[in-house]
Amino acid sequence: MTTVPTKPTPTKNVADRHESDFPVEAIRAEFPVLQREVNGHPLIYLDSSATTQKPQCVIEAISGFYKNHNANVHRGVHTLSQEATAAYESARDTVRRYINAADVRQIIFTRGTTESINLVANTWGSTNLVPQDEILLTSMEHHSDIVPWQMIAQKTGAVIKVIPITDAGDLDLDTFDQLLSEKTKTVGCVHVSNALGTINPVKKIIEKAHAVGAKVLLDGAQALPHLHVNVRDLDCDFYATSSHKWFGPTGIGFLYAKLDLLQAMPPWMGGGDMIKSVTFEKTLYNDLPNKFEAGTPNIAGAIGMAAALDFLRRVDINRIAHYENVLLAYGTSLLNEIPGLRIIGTAAHKASVLSFVINSIHPHDIGTILDQQGIAIRTGHHCTQPLMERFGIPATARASLAMYNTKQELDALADGIRKVIEVFN
Ligand code: PMP
Repeated sequence: MTTVPTKPTPTKNVADRHESDFPVEAIRAEFPVLQREVNGHPLIYLDSSATTQKPQCVIEAISGFYKNHNANVHRGVHTLSQEATAAYESARDTVRRYINAADVRQIIFTRGTTESINLVANTWGSTNLVPQDEILLTSMEHHSDIVPWQMIAQKTGAVIKVIPITDAGDLDLDTFDQLLSEKTKTVGCVHVSNALGTINPVKKIIEKAHAVGAKVLLDGAQALPHLHVNVRDLDCDFYATSSHKWFGPTGIGFLYAKLDLLQAMPPWMGGGDMIKSVTFEKTLYNDLPNKFEAGTPNIAGAIGMAAALDFLRRVDINRIAHYENVLLAYGTSLLNEIPGLRIIGTAAHKASVLSFVINSIHPHDIGTILDQQGIAIRTGHHCTQPLMERFGIPATARASLAMYNTKQELDALADGIRKVIEVFN
């Protein structure tokens, strides 16, 4: 976990020391796209919360599968199919080990966070929620942890309640305590906010929710690239994430869930692979995890996702978190020096996300002018419209950092923002 003062004073010596400890240049060399130029400038990629870049080892794991082993998984007697099945199921075990799940049956491959949450809402939600049951969500949830619950609330008669946040972007835990009751059936909470960077106190939330018998789903889309995730230590009921947020391919992610919950949940999509036997009269569903994986899966994606976790393990998430913390403190101090710029999201526990607004300059204009300088940031509501409404703004400009970013890139960002301000003045 990272701890960042709201307005840090620059501590260059400390920052320099930690920066030199971290082999950032060697890491950058593993990401081919970071070598390219954009609009005549070296690319400065500060949009990792939208999607991270991919290291060579992930690219090679995917192309290696297609070059050497490509076949469909499960049920194949020929060699390639057996190799593909072994690689696909070994990817599942890599995920299990990485997040410290007890059993591979608890890892369901999905297209990502969105599909994982939809799976839970449609299967667990449809069988467990009744009218007037309460679903608690935080006001910093991504739309993917709001809309599926709204859809299931409409079908079941359950009601959504919202946990507010403070001006800094921390959850208001006193109000959370008041909202919790025996009516609460589930709590949906983002582990790390994509729009603010806030790292939520999820262990505390889980403990409190469990005390009233509620289940907890953590949206972990943004957590794995920044911190160590240990699902057994967290004791969460569901954990949803997307591989592309942590250096793996798009179109693949996973849902972790407690075994008894998965066993009791009905399947969601029907089709091949999720069955044991089919007649027109009756279908017997397959065991976990296949029960939730209908159809030909994203085999190469699963293999690429496992390669991304091996990469994270090799670099070491604790060193990454430490380095990013230094970058975040440095970037925060640089942006705080820019007149008229306001950082949105100043929680004490924050991942390396710098969301900001500048007096009277539309975030899209900031993004467009920075792009002309080769600097990629994201502008908009970041799929968190209720959060934007909470802050009374339509959008922010967001620079989101990953292990491959440098202090020099943050200097360029600050210079670029000053140029934007000059253009508008
Ligand atoms: N939750 C959070 C916090 C996110 O940042 C994102 C992606 N922006 C999602 C959920 C949805 O992830 P995906 O689009 O990969 O399903």
